[in-house]
Amino acid sequence: MQILHPFTGSIQQYLEQIADADRYRPDHCPQCVANYPLTGHGFYSRTLVDVTFDGVIRVRRYLCRFCKRTVSLLPDFALPWLRFSISVIALFLAARLLHGLTLAASARAAAQSSMPYQRGQFWIRRFQKQAPALSLALVPLAVPMAAADLVSRALRMLESIGWIAAHRFLFSQLRCHLLGWPACLVPGG
Ligand SMILES: [Zn+2]
Repeated sequence: MQILHPFTGSIQQYLEQIADADRYRPDHCPQCVANYPLTGHGFYSRTLVDVTFDGVIRVRRYLCRFCKRTVSLLPDFALPWLRFSISVIALFLAARLLHGLTLAASARAAAQSSMPYQRGQFWIRRFQKQAPALSLALVPLAVPMAAADLVSRALRMLESIGWIAAHRFLFSQLRCHLLGWPACLVPGG
């Protein structure tokens, strides 16, 4: 399963810090009753595109010796199964759906001026589908706000809470994905 890396800082700092297996080693297994620290179990690599980064990052894995399952520590600026960082997607969606910019101008606002417009449309479709669930799930974190519809309500809540802070809450507490889980992945899997 994936749990979030309790980390705030730049991607560069993240890459430097994960070299040390002890630093964020979980002290118990999140998947079974074992109450002792997990064993380092290497890394997996994934691609990530952020506003000022486009490359491969390592994600640390740990193994529970009791249930033999692995736990990976996903940095909280990255979303499971999506290559683009939360910041990039947030900048794009706010530009397009809150401020009414064109697809091309929204891509520029997210520092992705050469990306295909279909990618932005994919994010928009996923977000529109997920907005009702998000605007309910985020109620504990946000002050009540009026909005014309659930999509703008969810966006305003995310902007006021901060997208990464909201993601931390949604993912850790509710196993909820900002853009929704694809049908092929089980939450918590
Ligand atoms: Zn376990």
